[in-house]
Amino acid sequence: METIEKGALYLVATPIGNLADMTFRAVHILQQADVIAAEDTRKSSVLLSHYQIHTPLRSYHSYNLKRETPRLIELLKQGQTVALISDAGTPGISDPGYHLVQACIQENIRIIPIPGPSAIITALVASGLPSHRFVFEGFLPRKKGRKTRLDQLAREERTVVLYESPHRILKTVKELHERMGDRSCVMARELTKKFEEFFRGTLAELEKYLESKPIKGEIVLLIQGFNKRD
Ligand code: SAM
Repeated sequence: METIEKGALYLVATPIGNLADMTFRAVHILQQADVIAAEDTRKSSVLLSHYQIHTPLRSYHSYNLKRETPRLIELLKQGQTVALISDAGTPGISDPGYHLVQACIQENIRIIPIPGPSAIITALVASGLPSHRFVFEGFLPRKKGRKTRLDQLAREERTVVLYESPHRILKTVKELHERMGDRSCVMARELTKKFEEFFRGTLAELEKYLESKPIKGEIVLLIQGFNKRD
């Protein structure tokens, strides 16, 4: 296996549910790094102890990134190797990873991505919706800018991929239905986990389904793009 580069930032993808989805390279890098920066150190310690990774962990979260970014940059400049992981999947997607990457670029620090699972791609490839062109929107804004974003998405011709929480999914599906009309959609839930589910239908059908029973777990929602002929 490769020799780890001193003073580099490694962006290490980790499983999105099933611990066996860890790559050999990810285990090797996390074992060799001097420090692992993780969003939620308690969550990450389950994965790390499973793979007997004893590298010191420190928290890197949206609430401490202003303070922690310069500290991590300082460690990197001193020649330490930092591995960044997120709660699940690929760091830098809907998490503070972007800020650290930006800071490293400004300081000429080498950034090495270690690819692996991501909820977006896992959901998209199995959805059955067109996957040759898609747009990832992350979490929709909760208040400010939400209506404008929904209107923009209603005209989007590529498959739209969103993250949503189980508490907000019904509201979001209702609003999408109102603004987009009835379209094909897929709700991909609990990917790679015991209760993995793909609901394939239309927005109206998904709305009915969600009204019939409350759901739990993590969700990726995919909506067919706007077809000008519709
Ligand atoms: N970095 C991650 C990635 O590569 O996909 C995503 C982090 S984002 C903060 C967390 C969101 O990803 C969750 O709220 C959910 O929408 C989605 N997600 C993560 N794991 C998932 C899973 N196993 N099944 C479905 N969605 C998942």
